[in-house]
Amino acid sequence: MSEEGFVIVITGIPGVGKTTVIDAAMEAAKRENMNVTLMNYGTVMFEIAKAEGLVENRDQMRRLPSHVQRRIQRLAARRISEDAKGHVVLVDTHMLIRTPEGFLPGIPAWVAEELKPNVLVLVEAEPEEIARRRKKDETRERDVQSIEEIQMHQEMCRSAAAACAALTGATIVVIPNHDGRAHEAAEQVFKLFRTLKES
Ligand code: ATP
Ligand code: MG
Repeated sequence: MSEEGFVIVITGIPGVGKTTVIDAAMEAAKRENMNVTLMNYGTVMFEIAKAEGLVENRDQMRRLPSHVQRRIQRLAARRISEDAKGHVVLVDTHMLIRTPEGFLPGIPAWVAEELKPNVLVLVEAEPEEIARRRKKDETRERDVQSIEEIQMHQEMCRSAAAACAALTGATIVVIPNHDGRAHEAAEQVFKLFRTLKES
């Protein structure tokens, strides 16, 4: 593995099951004594915004003016990249954040420059599956989107990933997370850890 470390950015639209898949992949890594660090981009941004007194919960983040979100985004990228040196880091984040001003890129050029992602993972599911998961999950305050909007959001994320790959040279891996099959998605993420460790 290179001294720089490896950064795997794992994305997917809200409710697709990123955190579920990541938790299972991290469990597998732990069982194999694999040293992988997990960072949640939204949590790092939230900690910065909360310390500045801008928000009280993380679902208020995407409603902040886009210029404020961009400033915090940059600070978070720096904080994450400082921690990433020398090991495999998994960053739980979004390709595009749905804001009242339109889709905001999660990894614009200045974030890409700080993060230097090696792999971009897109976790995907059928729009109907995503809508159902959002409805069922009462722990979060997720936006309500029609099936068509969910589909478009997911397609836009593929385009954003391609743009980010063109900027960074990162590879793109699409991982389906269908109903009741989160363990298969987690297995694919885990295999990626192994491949990167061996490279
Ligand atoms: P956010 O971006 O908002 O943090 P997320 O992508 O991390 O969302 P999760 O919180 O992991 O999404 O999952 C959303 C809901 O979907 C949870 O209730 C979770 O249990 C459920 N879920 C995740 N994956 C699957 C799956 N493969 N089959 C069925 N339910 C799933
Ligand atoms: Mg999550």
